[in-house]
Amino acid sequence: MGKIDGAGEEIEKETFNLLTSTQIVIRDAIDELGLNQGMYHLLKEPLRTFEVRIPVRMDDGSTKIFTGFRAQHNDALGPTMGGVRFHHQLKEDDVKALSMWMSLKCGIADLPFGGGKGGVICNPRTMSFGELERLSRGYVRAISQIVGPTKDIPAPDMYTNSQIMAWMMDEYSRLRQFDSPGFITGKPLVLGGSEGREKAGAKGVTICIEEAAKKRGVNLKGARVIVQGFGNAGSFIAKFMHEAGAIVVGISDVYGALYDPDGLHIDYLLHRRDSFGTVTTLFEGAISNQELLEQDCDILVPAAISNQITVENAGSIKAKIVVEAANGPTTLEATRILAERGILLVPDVLAGAGGVTVSYFEWIQNKQGYYWSEEEIEEKLRSRLVKSFNEIYELAQDRQVHMRLAAYIVGVRKMAEASSYRGWI
Ligand code: NAD
Repeated sequence: MGKIDGAGEEIEKETFNLLTSTQIVIRDAIDELGLNQGMYHLLKEPLRTFEVRIPVRMDDGSTKIFTGFRAQHNDALGPTMGGVRFHHQLKEDDVKALSMWMSLKCGIADLPFGGGKGGVICNPRTMSFGELERLSRGYVRAISQIVGPTKDIPAPDMYTNSQIMAWMMDEYSRLRQFDSPGFITGKPLVLGGSEGREKAGAKGVTICIEEAAKKRGVNLKGARVIVQGFGNAGSFIAKFMHEAGAIVVGISDVYGALYDPDGLHIDYLLHRRDSFGTVTTLFEGAISNQELLEQDCDILVPAAISNQITVENAGSIKAKIVVEAANGPTTLEATRILAERGILLVPDVLAGAGGVTVSYFEWIQNKQGYYWSEEEIEEKLRSRLVKSFNEIYELAQDRQVHMRLAAYIVGVRKMAEASSYRGWI
């Protein structure tokens, strides 16, 4: 098995109460849409949250009982879809909030799905290959009654990867006694995975950067870009920006940041980064992550962890455009400050919709048994995200709200409409 993405590195902390902050913006969106409070009560939590216990035989012969979750936020638009994370600090409330984000992303990208999310409290860094396989299979057995290709479709997330998806798919196929690749997305290509799935998240962010640059009259060729975080998301984004002719002037990892107003040698940095997204330790003169965020640039892309742009530094951000590749890097107060300062902020629920969109493409390809090329996937992703970006941008202009609220309005509106037609509310 390849590495568990990012394992061994400092872990993302979504400590700021993700659930509460998501509920606040959902309520604002419902108010903007003039919907009743009943709709807020329907959407403020998942329809279902499952908690399960998973006994796993460990290598030393003992049995350890793990706790897992699966949350299904709203299935009015179709089956739910969303990742499974393995994380020792996983909390039920985070799983709930993340399932709500998936619903919003599906609504924003106009996918016929609702949001789901799951996970297991465990530390994959301390587990062997065999233990991880038994845990992955045990998790599927525990949730098998509530998931399936037409009910709820899991995918990779933090510290899970295509090998884990393959084990999970195999376990589900055995339980159901038929081959069911459409049960899960993010699989290896040979088992029905999609071309372009691995880079889909970063591609989606890149498409949003391009659209935002057009709106602000910034020519991407020669634009100065800072990317915080050099892991899966950040390194691909830096690469795509570099290929587009932008000058990447800053990057960072958990240990510090590199900034050069003349541009960094991106190919060299990509070559030297380790599998945990660490590279700054090789250089002298690194600055701190907080200093990096305040450096001069045209486009700032937080692609590391949450709560990076706060009331403390929102007034000092020099970028004209901020595109959120990480989950929740900007607090709600900071969102307001950036909007007041005329900085265009592209929110995570829009910029991060590339992954679930290509998961949807994988699911379609599994259903039809016919597979698209990487070029076809990219073209389909681009047309969908460009449309979503412009819908949200124009809505924000019309209503004079920031793009985060506009994105929530689009996501909530679709769910609310579908729930209402179904007669739920
Ligand atoms: P990763 O573990 O591969 O990399 C994380 C990077 O952030 C590493 O370079 C690490 O050194 C750095 N980092 C960790 N703690 C830090 C800190 N305190 N300060 C600064 N840097 C720190 O993770 P990833 O897969 O690249 O994901 C990063 C974020 O992007 C997550 O929020 C993830 O959910 C999100 N993500 C977004 C997309 C997308 O499409 N938008 C795709 C994948 C991941």
